[in-house]
Amino acid sequence: MRQTVQFGNGVQIGGDHFALIAGPCAVETRELLDTVADAVAGAGAAALRGGAFKPRTSPQSFQGLGGPGLELLAAASRRTGLPVVTEVLDPRDVALVAGSAAVLQIGSRNMQNFPLLREVGRLRQPVLLKRGAAATIDELLAAADYILQGGNDQVVLCERGVRGFDPSTRYLLDLTAVPVLRQRTGLPVVVDPSHGTGRAELVAPMAKAALMAGADGLLIEVHADPERALCDGRQALRPAEFAQLAAELRRLVPFCGRRWSRPLAADSAVTAAGANPGPLDDEVHAP
Ligand code: PEP
Ligand code: MN
Repeated sequence: MRQTVQFGNGVQIGGDHFALIAGPCAVETRELLDTVADAVAGAGAAALRGGAFKPRTSPQSFQGLGGPGLELLAAASRRTGLPVVTEVLDPRDVALVAGSAAVLQIGSRNMQNFPLLREVGRLRQPVLLKRGAAATIDELLAAADYILQGGNDQVVLCERGVRGFDPSTRYLLDLTAVPVLRQRTGLPVVVDPSHGTGRAELVAPMAKAALMAGADGLLIEVHADPERALCDGRQALRPAEFAQLAAELRRLVPFCGRRWSRPLAADSAVTAAGANPGPLDDEVHAP
């Protein structure tokens, strides 16, 4: 049976609900975060993503703002009505992150961090578990089991690309994983075409392909000034590009027997924030 995961003010993912989760790779400044948060809310996203704790390959790279970044996310969430999806890196930070976030993200590098999986398994709050870049589907499902066995059944799986041999793209986005996972589990499956391709111009086609393959949602990176981003600028959509993609997805979603998921109060919150209050066309019910 297909499972639905709920969070925030009425957001649902899975079943017939399709949820677009979007925002910057990392929280950098209040201004940049608010600009992107307002833009993705105005475009109809279901949730705001953004890393406060960043898993960076080099210790010299920007590591995220940590606690102050969580506070900025919480403020952006109040401003827009969008619930927050953000990564937790360290089992010792789980309670802190759970206080600001609706959904805790376990990143690909931590897919088999078993103490961290056990810790989020103790929560009764959704967890978005990303597939490791060299993990099989069996390993992803076994990692999810650590969370489920703790009694937390609110798990969303995320395909974000695996290590390929071709440097044309950052990773090899394995869209086959979507129907395979849907066969093997009732847990919702989302796709991250931003990390999966590493290139902004490939995000829209792979996002649409993911919807067609049966994904229950998408995780997409958006930045107001990608050239100056501290992290993953090459794969970030600009707000206008994101709005265009969101509009296209919203037209496609009903044809896939899905409904567009949004927080119940998002329209009024976005209007209050002064962002793009225009009517959200042809909402969005399965025919
Ligand atoms: C992210 O979503 O910002 C991220 C670091 O992703 P991944 O763990 O898939 O590399
Ligand atoms: Mn990123």
